[in-house]
Amino acid sequence: MFDYLIVGAGYAGSVLAERLAKGLNKKVLIIDKRNHIAGNAYDHYNEDGILVHKYGPHIFHTNSKDVFDYLSKFTEWHNYQHKVLASIDGQMVPMPINLNTINSLYGLNLSSADVEDFFASKAEDVKQVLTSEDVVVSKVGRELYEKFFKGYTRKQWELDPSELDASVTARVPTRTNKDDRYFTDTYQAMPLHGYTRMFEKMLSHPNIKIMLNTSYQDIMDEISYKKLIFTGPVDEYFNYCYGKLPYRSIDFKFETLDNAPFQPTGTVNYPNDYAFTRITEFKYLTGQEHRKTSIVYEFPKAEGDPYYPIPKAENAVLYKKYQALADQLSNTHFVGRLATYKYYNMDQVVAQALSTFKKILNQENSIPASDEKNILKSKN
Ligand code: FAD
Ligand code: UDP
Repeated sequence: MFDYLIVGAGYAGSVLAERLAKGLNKKVLIIDKRNHIAGNAYDHYNEDGILVHKYGPHIFHTNSKDVFDYLSKFTEWHNYQHKVLASIDGQMVPMPINLNTINSLYGLNLSSADVEDFFASKAEDVKQVLTSEDVVVSKVGRELYEKFFKGYTRKQWELDPSELDASVTARVPTRTNKDDRYFTDTYQAMPLHGYTRMFEKMLSHPNIKIMLNTSYQDIMDEISYKKLIFTGPVDEYFNYCYGKLPYRSIDFKFETLDNAPFQPTGTVNYPNDYAFTRITEFKYLTGQEHRKTSIVYEFPKAEGDPYYPIPKAENAVLYKKYQALADQLSNTHFVGRLATYKYYNMDQVVAQALSTFKKILNQENSIPASDEKNILKSKN
């Protein structure tokens, strides 16, 4: 009998498998319906020997020392600060919007103080910032919103920014300096030998058994276990009893080209042209030296593997109903981006898994209810 069955070998499942096996000496079975570990962070060498990310570009960044220190037990790092350009009006300009973006786009020579005034003169007066449109127009005005955010968001989510929670476009800041990095987190690095190698190390413990090509539904009645950790879609676990939670999916189109580099930075965003949102060239991210280069185009779509929960009020209401069911199950933990319906980055999922482990630790250390009763009796 396994102490824990863990469904899903992405960050949520793998971190918990490692912690339970190493930290609590539990016997763990971790399964995944895919033919590999690492979930959406999975990377592999393609037929030309270039390291690519099967589920789109994954760039690691965090402000959490705990998360960085934890993952550092399983990998060395290659320092990498991600840079993104947006293709606007025939020019490639830095994204997030910064001082250089404005100067290039409008042929100006503004200072940081000037550009603050520039934004202030364009910003719309929004009483309450509620939507993804509000976030941007209240900071930089409608023209920049339409150039950089409106088209990209409509492609990515098939929704107008005015229909999405503020948190979506709030992921991308606006800057008045010349900092052209996509992220400003304290720790920004890529696993030196790739994500999959890091996961292999995490899961290499004698108490952990891995079964791939195995879906929960296939084995739930065949395997005995005491507790369950579920990291797949929460609505699927409850047989969609309240209806389907919406997710966005993506088609990834990979190409390997003879001539490198293909583009000037790791990622170029195309808010207003083409059906894809962005193109990423992996060698920038991984630092790999290779004569050829591999790129990926992202074509968002409604159907397919669930990749993105959709942050929108009515979806949060539906998720709350599933969460209420989940909360009633004391021996099942729901962890991760799909199981808690949160638009989380990798580091946030690691943090969530580590805090779930702490909860489990407290439960394990707490006195069982029967003993509690006996202690009370003996005291009286
Ligand atoms: P997942 O990685 O989705 O793992 C869940 C696993 O469960 C999957 O492998 C799935 O096959 C398995 N599973 C589901 N249901 C079942 C079932 N019934 N039976 C068996 N197995 C099942 N984050 C960043 O920090 N930086 C980035 O640059 C970044 N870029 C991203 C780009 C894209 C295109 C996407 C989609 C995500 C990106 N992310 C990024 C987010 C990152 O992928 C997630 O935060 C992280 O992978 C979530 O881990 P998880 O364990 O919750 O879920
Ligand atoms: N976004 C945009 N234009 C851009 C980049 C981002 O409109 O050039 C919006 C879009 O809605 C996107 C969101 O900001 O979905 C978050 O962007 P991020 O790069 O964090 O998306 P992810 O990497 O998670 O796909």
